[in-house]
Amino acid sequence: MPTFNFPWQRTAAGANLLSPSGQLGVTIFEEITSLAAQHGAINLGQGFPDTDGPAPFKDRAAEGITGNLNQYAPGGGIPALRTAIAEHQKRFYGITVDPDTEVVVTTGATEAIAASILAFIQAGDEVITFEPFYDSYGATIGLAGGIHRTVALNAPSFQPNIAELRAAFNPRTKMIVLNNPHNPTGAVFDREVLAEIVALATEHDCLILSDEVYEHLTFGVAHTPIASLPGAWQRTLTLSSVGKTFSFTGWKVGWASGPAELVAAVRTVKQFLSYSSGSAFQPVVAEALGSPTEFFAGFAKDLAHRSEVLATGLEAAGMTVYRPRGTYFIVADVAPLGFTSALDLARKMPASIGVAGIPLSVFCHAEGAQKTRTLMRFAFCKKLEVLTEAAERLSHLTAKIGI
Ligand code: PMP
Ligand code: GLN
Repeated sequence: MPTFNFPWQRTAAGANLLSPSGQLGVTIFEEITSLAAQHGAINLGQGFPDTDGPAPFKDRAAEGITGNLNQYAPGGGIPALRTAIAEHQKRFYGITVDPDTEVVVTTGATEAIAASILAFIQAGDEVITFEPFYDSYGATIGLAGGIHRTVALNAPSFQPNIAELRAAFNPRTKMIVLNNPHNPTGAVFDREVLAEIVALATEHDCLILSDEVYEHLTFGVAHTPIASLPGAWQRTLTLSSVGKTFSFTGWKVGWASGPAELVAAVRTVKQFLSYSSGSAFQPVVAEALGSPTEFFAGFAKDLAHRSEVLATGLEAAGMTVYRPRGTYFIVADVAPLGFTSALDLARKMPASIGVAGIPLSVFCHAEGAQKTRTLMRFAFCKKLEVLTEAAERLSHLTAKIGI
């Protein structure tokens, strides 16, 4: 990769948005969503639900705005929300968190990711992520001047190879970023994988940043926060947000929890990124986190059904499908249809067949992009009739788009 001098260039390069000649691109989410809008296509690209979360929560947020919740919230988040986050960690995972010192509210998980990486990574430090990786990890590692090392997740299981994971650690490793459940593959990591990560992080004295925004969206498998494993807590920052669990991706309320000294560092950086945000939303998010357990289980069950409807449709269209164990996403291989580049196909699909998807290669460095070149990610957090219609359109893929 060429050397880029300015922080913004390193940020863009880290997320694969700079060509070798320095040409700046937009994120794949923006590109595909805009193509989908332009052609009126069904957008199974960007991961957002086409049905908002529960109406009473929306009403409460609206009341906050028409009422008096329009000035700054405290920098670390309102006490009610920090308490609700602590209670949530206790209720679902048995993790005890001090709401005053071990939780910080952020502007979505995105700000928590940036603040955590910027708080701890210096120029030349190595950060490990799995690959494919969510774009903001690469971007903020680049912004911090860190070196991004990846460990491949390969089909069909998308679990990492432990020997490769071990080989990625070295004396310069300062952090491993884990995303579990994993976007874009839909993998939920086995407990042995999590235990190995804790062991390696301990051996190399590095931090674990665990992005768990899909924590409640698992299908037939329980979510295990890595922070709950023996020896993990003291070196782990756990992140989540309201967006995915409650179908309010635009609210951008997220949080980080972990030991007080790590959270203090994240809060220090975070207060100069946004200071605070979401005053009208924070009380509602607190309330949402206290929802009955059936709410969480019901949403996951409903999503699992949608996933299966789309999986069946993609298979009927001739793709090889890797069924997810969690998230909003399903990965399908378009190679059996004769296509050799999911990236080219994704750029043509909105106009040609009226469906949008995201190629996996954009979440990878060069070698990984080559390996994943025929894989496409489809979001199934959409209405059933929309998924059925998308599958029907996809069944005409080869007829409409020449190979
Ligand atoms: N991490 C992952 C893995 C994601 O898929 C997303 C997208 N929602 C985010 C973080 C960002 O979350 P937020 O919208 O809360 O900033
Ligand atoms: N997290 C969502 C996805 O992976 C949206 C990300 C974005 O638009 N930045 O599709």
